[in-house]
Amino acid sequence: MNPIATKVAVIGAGISGAVCASSLAKNGISVTIFESARGPGGRMSRRRETSEDERELYFDHGAPYFTSTNNDVEEMIRGWEARGLVAEWKQNFGSFDFNTKKFVNFEKEGLSKKYVGIPGMNSICRALCQEPGIESKFGVMVGRLEWLENEDSWSLTDVNGQDLGMFNGVVASDKSTFSQRFTQVTGKPPPLGISITNNFYLYLFLFIYFDWFLQSLSQKL
Ligand SMILES: Cc1cc2nc3c(=O)[nH]c(=O)nc-3n(C[C@H](O)[C@H](O)[C@H](O)COP(=O)(O)OP(=O)(O)OC[C@H]3O[C@@H](n4cnc5c(N)ncnc54)[C@H](O)[C@@H]3O)c2cc1C
Repeated sequence: MNPIATKVAVIGAGISGAVCASSLAKNGISVTIFESARGPGGRMSRRRETSEDERELYFDHGAPYFTSTNNDVEEMIRGWEARGLVAEWKQNFGSFDFNTKKFVNFEKEGLSKKYVGIPGMNSICRALCQEPGIESKFGVMVGRLEWLENEDSWSLTDVNGQDLGMFNGVVASDKSTFSQRFTQVTGKPPPLGISITNNFYLYLFLFIYFDWFLQSLSQKL
């Protein structure tokens, strides 16, 4: 493989960004992940709370499990299983009815296996972000991308105007960083402003390994 980009910034340490970073690093590309949250996981994050009687409680506040019907994804999951990052969930799933304080709507056994992260759903992202060839920077919100024609590189800046370095490839794993919907919802401009000149390459890799999004997209704009 002769990669065009050798140093790539990945924005977001959710499952898309983490899997993408891992795939790039395995192909010899130097990767830096920038994540605005304190830790990895995104919508597969794990939260910690202390109860009134001082007990520590952990819970997954996004996806509780995932399934796969794709052979490539299943091969990847087997690798995660071998590393002890995920396990098949063999118990029932139900919904908790707040009014009756009872579990209802127990799911019948589905066709696909259900997997959960061990000990929490963020375990996969956490492990992937620590793989060789990947540097992970948390608590950093990328605020601007600028293509520097002379340098043949992207210059990244955080929301406070702090320089984050230059990269010859950028992966934005969260479309809301660009989306106009961000403005519709918040009334503010999207956090990621992009300054682009002619003759640039933006590689947008979107790796989504969930049942309702099973597709991988590689676009050259
Ligand atoms: C309550 C809930 C239940 C769900 N249940 C299921 C389920 O049962 N099964 C299933 O398959 N899926 C489920 N999902 C969906 C699943 O969690 C998401 O599809 C998936 O986790 C999205 O991953 P992602 O990496 O694409 O995005 P995200 O997890 O959103 O990751 C994007 C990351 O980018 C970071 N970021 C964004 N902008 C910037 C910036 N400018 N600079 C730095 N960092 C930035 C964000 O902080 C975030 O961590 C559920 C989601 C929720 C919320």
